[in-house]
Amino acid sequence: MDAERDARFQLMKRLLVMIPLSTILILLTLCIVLGVNLYEAKRELRELRDSAAPVMAVSQTSEGGESGVYTAAGVDEVRQGQSDEDGAAAETGDGVRKVYLTFDDGPSGNTGRILDILAEYDVKATFFVVGKEEERYQPLYKRIVEEGHTLAMHSYSHKYNEIYQSKESFVEDLTKLQEFLYNTTGVWCRYCRFPGGSSNTVSRVDMHELIAYLEEQDMSYFDWNIVSGDATSGYISADAIVRNSTANLQSFPEAIILMHDASDKNSTVEALPRLIEQIQAMEDTKLLPITDDTEEIHHISND
Ligand code: ZN
Repeated sequence: MDAERDARFQLMKRLLVMIPLSTILILLTLCIVLGVNLYEAKRELRELRDSAAPVMAVSQTSEGGESGVYTAAGVDEVRQGQSDEDGAAAETGDGVRKVYLTFDDGPSGNTGRILDILAEYDVKATFFVVGKEEERYQPLYKRIVEEGHTLAMHSYSHKYNEIYQSKESFVEDLTKLQEFLYNTTGVWCRYCRFPGGSSNTVSRVDMHELIAYLEEQDMSYFDWNIVSGDATSGYISADAIVRNSTANLQSFPEAIILMHDASDKNSTVEALPRLIEQIQAMEDTKLLPITDDTEEIHHISND
């Protein structure tokens, strides 16, 4: 009898330990699963937000979506400026139309291919890069510089909720990128592109405040007046990218085309040779990297 009671007692004791232990274990697993889901959801949200601004811009065009001209507030100024020239061939003073290919978000698994194509056509472009510490990306920053392209800043983290939290967080992120790029390439970058553009609607800081900061620091920012349409998170064909990028190109004396350098954006790479060929075939048109001579296309400004 005693032995039986003892055994029952032992069983009870084990159960008393096991039940809370397994409850804790289940709760812990649940927490981890939820945590991972939350992280993933946040990441997707960030990506969505990033692509939202330019995509919305495409859908705002009067032609109903695919013409690829950014029609947000500030760009009207660009159009007005150009209508002063009698609506004739929109060219700059020297009679040459300037076109700037700009690639955001790199370096990526596609940067090498983009650089190869640019080299093949002897075209210089501008890369608005982010901060990537991994070893495999370091030679790409250097290649951009060595091959004569303009290395420019997009943001270190590209995390909207961090960069646009406050002026301080914006400055911290940009400074981190500037120093990182200097250490990697020896170039002290002065050209910026705000993630989502200066007309983004996600910033919790008044964008005019951030623009004022850049001006104080003698830095410039560049938005775009043509969207290639490759910001979309869904699939876009190379044909559509070429079409979007060239449809209204000839109405701008200076055209800044928004494109992306990302591992999953293969259509951009695929579109690039044809896009370059079509632009090079346009009369009195030059493909150039951004320099101090480039007209700063701004969606919003402090002027
Ligand atoms: Zn971006």
